[in-house]
Amino acid sequence: MKCALCSKEAVIYLPYAGSSFCESHFTERFERVVKKEVRDQIRFRSNSGRISVALSGGKDSSVTLYSVASILGKRKNVTVTAFTVDEGIRGYRDRSIETARKLCSSLGIDHEVISYSEVFDTTMDDQVIAGLNGKSPCAICGPMRRQLINMAADRTGSDYVALGMNSDDIAQSVLMNVSRGDLDRLIRMAPHRASIPGLIPRVTPLRSLSEREVLLYAMLKEIPHDSGWCPYYSQAQRNLFRSVIDQIEEKYPGSKLAMGKMQVEVRKAVFQEKEISIDRCRKCGMPSSSELCSVCRNSGAA
Ligand code: SF4
Repeated sequence: MKCALCSKEAVIYLPYAGSSFCESHFTERFERVVKKEVRDQIRFRSNSGRISVALSGGKDSSVTLYSVASILGKRKNVTVTAFTVDEGIRGYRDRSIETARKLCSSLGIDHEVISYSEVFDTTMDDQVIAGLNGKSPCAICGPMRRQLINMAADRTGSDYVALGMNSDDIAQSVLMNVSRGDLDRLIRMAPHRASIPGLIPRVTPLRSLSEREVLLYAMLKEIPHDSGWCPYYSQAQRNLFRSVIDQIEEKYPGSKLAMGKMQVEVRKAVFQEKEISIDRCRKCGMPSSSELCSVCRNSGAA
């Protein structure tokens, strides 16, 4: 299999592009796509600002940090930092935190850890042992993690927080929100162009690249990342959506990207009709779309 742009051997075939690429044309294309997303999504006022990357230590967030640091880190008035949310999952998160620390130290990036035990006085392992009232671990963990991502970015005074979501993740989230009929959540998905009071705008520089491309880029660039899986992942509702989306993509290449683009278009259309706003949870005061945030609801607060 030859590269579509030169005579070298290809390292990847991308069905949605209908082309194969050699190592140098693949990395060049990858970097061009990320640069465009960064340019489109991140607009610092007066060309200076601060962005933090939510770094789990996995391939997606590690490539996000590496890319954001290469694109924005050299700018004199821009500071790039990173943080890791520690959910308290033994044998999984402790390992990836170490990988995250190593990557940050090799890039010269400040790195913080924010944990469920520090903020919520619990861990995911404790939650699972205590029983989850019929909920999946991710239904408990997801809202807590989202709160801590916002809190960590706020603590560092960031203008933006970058998430390592690739086009697979975006398409899964779109389908999940559509299947629940949750228009509010669909239009609140990152990237955020306008800031929503109480929420640090989230950006997704890898949104136009597939999981396969991100993994290959991480390998070719030798970006340290952890390949472990959360022990609770098999119970995630997202798995069903992942499998459905993969089947659709196999039959109709480009569907994942199309779903991501559709989400942005829907938001533009709805934005004209409806102001996006978010309230505060009446118990803990964190940003919430309802009277009680998901974390307080899950903990049984009245
Ligand atoms: Fe939390 Fe689920 Fe992710 Fe594990 S897979 S870290 S439980 S959201």
